[in-house]
Amino acid sequence: MEKQRYERPIIRRLNTGVMNKFGTKTEYEPVTHIDDCAVKDLLADYGSPLFVISQKTIHETYQEANRAFNTRYPKVQFAWSYKTNYISAVCNVYHKLGSWAEVVSGFEYQKALKNGVPGSKIIFNGPDKTVEELKLAMENKSLIHIDHLDELYTLTELCEETGIRPKVAIRVNMDTGIYPMWDRFGFNYENGQAWDAINKIVLSDRMDLVGLHAHIGTFMLTANAYGVAATKLSELALSIKNKYDKKIQYIDMGGGFASKNTLKGSFLSGTDTSPSFDDYAEAISTAIMNAGFVEDELPLLILETGRAMIDEAGYLLGSVISNKRLSDGRKATIMDFGVNIMFTSFWYDHKISPAQEFSHHTEDTVMYGPLCMNIDVVRENATLPPMKRGDQVVVHTVGAYNMTQWMQFIALRPAVVMIDLQGKPHLIRKREELTNIDQQEQMPDYLKEFKL
Ligand SMILES: *Cc1c(COP(=O)(O)O)cnc(C)c1O
Repeated sequence: MEKQRYERPIIRRLNTGVMNKFGTKTEYEPVTHIDDCAVKDLLADYGSPLFVISQKTIHETYQEANRAFNTRYPKVQFAWSYKTNYISAVCNVYHKLGSWAEVVSGFEYQKALKNGVPGSKIIFNGPDKTVEELKLAMENKSLIHIDHLDELYTLTELCEETGIRPKVAIRVNMDTGIYPMWDRFGFNYENGQAWDAINKIVLSDRMDLVGLHAHIGTFMLTANAYGVAATKLSELALSIKNKYDKKIQYIDMGGGFASKNTLKGSFLSGTDTSPSFDDYAEAISTAIMNAGFVEDELPLLILETGRAMIDEAGYLLGSVISNKRLSDGRKATIMDFGVNIMFTSFWYDHKISPAQEFSHHTEDTVMYGPLCMNIDVVRENATLPPMKRGDQVVVHTVGAYNMTQWMQFIALRPAVVMIDLQGKPHLIRKREELTNIDQQEQMPDYLKEFKL
């Protein structure tokens, strides 16, 4: 038998199997497998830490969302929000399921084209589209969502120059009862800016106004706000029909549905507080159906759901580097992953499970990342069994935004694996190496040599 490592004893009251505030022990139930793949094998094969994406969970979530909307509204189209997770293999899972692409930058636009999405099925959002990018989007017949007047003027000039008649929508911001209001994107509904932009577009007669778009916020905890937004967009669409006899082809409700993550400071867990797809679908479809459209002129409903589609499908696997006692007696656990790759830990209390069986002793611990940076805290307080160096954990609900907002700070970014529907893992992004950083850098000749 291997010699046990010595650990200095401390005297401290330890509650056996202490319950959390809901009287359950679900948080520290071990999670040894993800879709039939053993966590320890995944870490042995691809290194620690490691992001894992479950294609099965993506499919299940997509089907749930699709069912919620399609059973309530006749014409629904999802468009995958690239910035939520733009690893190409992930995007293609959504495209195979029927999603169009929704992009907010030129680089994301190029990525969508490269992934094989037809130009006409790319929605181009965002406040910063260059002249070249707009031109490319016009040539590809993409749906250009205008964010501000300067963009409208640039686009008008490009229409003259190229003779192309682009398909456009305007982004509309509005008061939906949620504050602070997201009024920096698009044209405001209440003060008439949106209607003014619509008039300019229709009267100049150089582009086809095919849609109206809103993206009212992110992690929206009330479905009702979407009902308000859908009513206001429908009103605009009907006014356009009345005044100009032009039919708006689609209403795009953007993204922002909450995932099942738990916001910091929230008493209840996200699984209990976040509205379901059914709640959002009910609010949106009721609003559009009751707005007064003639039945065969109901607009297509586009949804750019990101976070709520993928958060649950993403896991981060990692290992314990060390345990410590802090000066105030609290336990601290240092993990090999930190806020550099878990950006969302700034606003969520992610569920973290041990990846191996333990006795039912638990203790509260602060979970730190490996960075030499004081704010590298992954969880301020997690109830977990005592874990030692090399023990492994599974962090849940990290599929959204972590793999796009991750930082290359102090550490290099880990590999990403997708587990397919048969339970087979595939590497979809390699672990970064020094060469990935070096290839971008250039050393001027005069700095190449030095003596110490
Ligand atoms: C970020 C974004 C989305 C996706 O938002 P989620 O909160 O991830 O659902 C959709 N549309 C636009 C315009 C966005 O900027």
